[in-house]
Amino acid sequence: MRYETLLPHEFNKTLAEKPVAYLPWGALEWHGYHMAVGNDGLKAHGILERVAERAGGVVLPPVWCGFDTLKLPAHGGFPLTLEFKRETVMGLLDEYLCQLAEVGFKLVVVLTGHYGPPHVAALVEAANLFTIWQTQYDTRVWVIPEYDLVTDLGYRGDHAAKWETAILMHVHPELVDLSRLDDESAGESGGILGEDPRQTATPELGETIVAAIVERLAARVERFLEIGHE
Ligand SMILES: [Zn+2]
Repeated sequence: MRYETLLPHEFNKTLAEKPVAYLPWGALEWHGYHMAVGNDGLKAHGILERVAERAGGVVLPPVWCGFDTLKLPAHGGFPLTLEFKRETVMGLLDEYLCQLAEVGFKLVVVLTGHYGPPHVAALVEAANLFTIWQTQYDTRVWVIPEYDLVTDLGYRGDHAAKWETAILMHVHPELVDLSRLDDESAGESGGILGEDPRQTATPELGETIVAAIVERLAARVERFLEIGHE
């Protein structure tokens, strides 16, 4: 169920039965010549829609607010990218968490498709500050970069390379065009960090890894709901 399309009576039923909000976090960021710049948010949204189908709950629209992106000169200074300040990311997550708690959600799952330690650390810090200081709410928050659920399967995060390309090929095949890459642009100079997707990315790989992420995250959410919103 999508937050933006629910009618109030449907919303109230979900809040009473499965008070879980899924917040896909992304960035508008260069992802090579072969992928849409919204990859990170689209990837997280696609995964969370599948989790919500399994475990129940409400999926919010992606939040397009990336910190420490490839726009920074230290990361190559790539175009078409919107870079936000660390405090903007933290403030935005805090406002989402407080208001989602007020709406009545008991668990907020923040799945970030944009990662890199500084960005993830900003989200984790904001979530920790919410948990410590906003004691008027009994709402739990999980901040998870999607690869963190499946590192044992070999996915440790990359950028527009084997894994991210495979996932987008599965979630939004129309937004990937590998024919845009050549031997030079398929590497770091093209903003690709990881294995050359031309040889390694397939929709089947994307389907397999998304299924594993969905299964494990849905199981965690189901456990949370079973033990009564601890
Ligand atoms: Zn990405």
